[in-house]
Amino acid sequence: MPNFHDLGLSHTLQKALAEAGYAQPTEIQQRVIPAILMGRDILASAKTGSGKTASYALPMLDMLDQRRKRARMPRAIVLSPTRELAAQVAENFTRYSREMSIEMLLLIGGMNMAEQDKVLARGVDVLIATPGRLLDHVERGRILLSGVETLVIDEVDRMLDIGFIDDIDRLVKLLPAGRQTLMLSATMPSEMEKLAKRFLNDPKRVIADPPSQVSATIEHSLLHLDNPRGKHRALIKLLSEDEVQGGIIFCNRKREVSALQKKLHTEGFSVDMLHGDMNQHHRLECLGRFRAGEVAFLVCSDVAARGLDIPMVDHVFNLDVPSHAEDYVHRIGRTGRAGRNGRAITLATEEDERFLAAIEKVIGEKIAPMNVAGKAAIKKPDTPPKPQGSKPKGKPAKKSPKETPTKTHEVESFSDGGHVPRFLR
Ligand code: AMP
Repeated sequence: MPNFHDLGLSHTLQKALAEAGYAQPTEIQQRVIPAILMGRDILASAKTGSGKTASYALPMLDMLDQRRKRARMPRAIVLSPTRELAAQVAENFTRYSREMSIEMLLLIGGMNMAEQDKVLARGVDVLIATPGRLLDHVERGRILLSGVETLVIDEVDRMLDIGFIDDIDRLVKLLPAGRQTLMLSATMPSEMEKLAKRFLNDPKRVIADPPSQVSATIEHSLLHLDNPRGKHRALIKLLSEDEVQGGIIFCNRKREVSALQKKLHTEGFSVDMLHGDMNQHHRLECLGRFRAGEVAFLVCSDVAARGLDIPMVDHVFNLDVPSHAEDYVHRIGRTGRAGRNGRAITLATEEDERFLAAIEKVIGEKIAPMNVAGKAAIKKPDTPPKPQGSKPKGKPAKKSPKETPTKTHEVESFSDGGHVPRFLR
């Protein structure tokens, strides 16, 4: 297997990678890095958590480091679909380039334009941006794009979903024709091929993993409920398990995100939330607290489904079955990253059958019903549920990451409202 030196990366980067604990390049890195260093355009898909960011960031940094700076003109642009992803890409660039003198700027909405203008006026080498905010600055005459040598369009499938392609089209028209363009995505929808024809020149095509496959490091299962009204109770029971130290809980609707966050908070859980209607400052703050391990759970909409890389996430819960099959892969891909093990549990009712069938088709496997044996959340399958209306015996202990959670919910709590999971009957 080639190492980072064999791929043509500099000693400076090899040192940074050793410090980051990267022993070997991942598959996408092996296949993409040499081609980028040779100046090729790239059309690549690799599943989430496969090291996709470093596959373009590393060769770009070496090229930027070795080439001449341009006074006050960015030489590279990375476009990302969401603010959180852009911030994460910027963190990666910063981490790898500590020994280089490369100026970077994160240009995302919700942050102060005047501050961004000041940094732009001093001159930056790399802009890591969401398309809308970059266009704002360009249209206000704050950025000259004629010095751009490399353009990255990351998470193209997500860009297509959000409807960013018109903005990207406008930006691409302002860039030099001779630039190098890299398009990367978790999946390769057919529209991406059409875009590739417009934006890329004789690209190297790389499909590093079969798209839409669930990583082998994730144990994922389904918890069937008879009635959606039992979901909160069932989730609380799952979260109270000893082995659940923290994780992300996905809901399909923003309204549900905030209702669930309130509910869990009232129940004593250490929990924040993240959805698209929150202001940027608040979003980054919540994400920062979760990333730092100060909060055990994050309730999210799909804004957090793609690309977020938080190693401590060992559990993902889907309060709702996602209605887009691909989102299932993205959501559960928040755990089991970079070789770690993770668990994902999806709560489902009969109404979800159609969506589940679509998901199982996409991932090419059946999602197993939750394994009763060994999972205390659904312990004692032979225990008859108590009569309706019986109260849970206590509240879950506050699940601060430093504390060991106390199991206080009894299996009867599932029976609130009469919604007893099938496997308990
Ligand atoms: P990504 O797919 O870019 O979100 O990366 C997923 C995770 O893998 C991140 O935590 C990276 O820091 C990590 N990573 C990327 N490349 C490597 C590598 N060659 N060895 C070990 N970890 C890596």
